[in-house]
Amino acid sequence: MKKPMYSCEEHINEALDDWVYGEETFPKLDLVDNSKNLWITCGYCENRAIYIVGNECSDT
Ligand SMILES: [Zn+2]
Repeated sequence: MKKPMYSCEEHINEALDDWVYGEETFPKLDLVDNSKNLWITCGYCENRAIYIVGNECSDT
């Protein structure tokens, strides 16, 4: 399974495109938890990531 990807506001569309292209499924989209003082860098640039793109499996 693919690891989650992190993306800033600007690159979220690219992250989604990459995911869909690679996985052929639509990913789960979450916001990075900003209540913790974490700085997670976008996978496409040096900005702070605000989105987590990934597929958390739920047994539905
Ligand atoms: Zn970015």
